[in-house]
Amino acid sequence: MSLISCPSCKKKISDKVQECPHCQFSFNQGEDDFERLRVLGYRKYRDKMYRFRMLTFVSMALAIAGLIPMLWSYAKAMDYGFNVKFTNHWGIYLVMAGFALYVLIRVLMFNTKRNYKSSK
Ligand SMILES: [Zn+2]
Repeated sequence: MSLISCPSCKKKISDKVQECPHCQFSFNQGEDDFERLRVLGYRKYRDKMYRFRMLTFVSMALAIAGLIPMLWSYAKAMDYGFNVKFTNHWGIYLVMAGFALYVLIRVLMFNTKRNYKSSK
């Protein structure tokens, strides 16, 4: 006897059972059901990745919303001959937040992709 992942709920179950004890997925169902589950899994994955991509745009917008006023202040200060530091500008926080969010989303996307590939 060995353990396999249930095609429906992904929990570890014995390969001898006719039905998953966790979600009652039946192995007596035809190929169609496996195909249906595969398509459902793909859709879930695709929707998740789509949401992540939307969030990367949000993170980039955040960074730009911080960067532009920062550059603006910098250009203005240069005109007046001030010596300004970017680190003193509030815009740096938005840039950092946007960047951190971007990195976080890329990591989550990478994990989601890897989990999806290993579940196939
Ligand atoms: Zn199951």
